[in-house]
Amino acid sequence: MRPLNEREIRASFVNCSKGEAKRLAVPRDLADRPWDDLDFLGWRDPAAPERAYLVAESGDALVGVVLRRATPAAQARRGMCSLCLTTHTDVSLMTARKAGRDGQAGNSVGAYLCADLACSLYLRGKKDAGPGGRLHESLTLPEKVERTMTNLAGFLEKIG
Ligand SMILES: [Zn+2]
Repeated sequence: MRPLNEREIRASFVNCSKGEAKRLAVPRDLADRPWDDLDFLGWRDPAAPERAYLVAESGDALVGVVLRRATPAAQARRGMCSLCLTTHTDVSLMTARKAGRDGQAGNSVGAYLCADLACSLYLRGKKDAGPGGRLHESLTLPEKVERTMTNLAGFLEKIG
């Protein structure tokens, strides 16, 4: 994806208040992010590990969502990320408040995601998910990326 700056990241959030978008922790190392290898930008708040954020390109626009990580189980459990289909022990149930009135009414959407939101790097083999993490597939990388982005678009659509 193209490199993003802090201003456009803050302006992209669809499921939190403007005040929250202004205050949330945007990564300080944006210039050093591996943008060429990223299909979307995801990060966790280092000061609040249950908070995570995801920003994706949607046509010409950006869509950012605030995610909340369900309390990690005492024992690590293997799971499959619903976006990139990587299986590892660091998969978490993340919930996103829905945008607009639905969200104000308390509705949210949940999905199992790589807890570090580094799906793009697992797909490219730049981050290792451990033995058995990636199924052997005959799909090419662009096909896997496309599938991941289709899954992501579906998740973002549910958030609204
Ligand atoms: Zn993933």
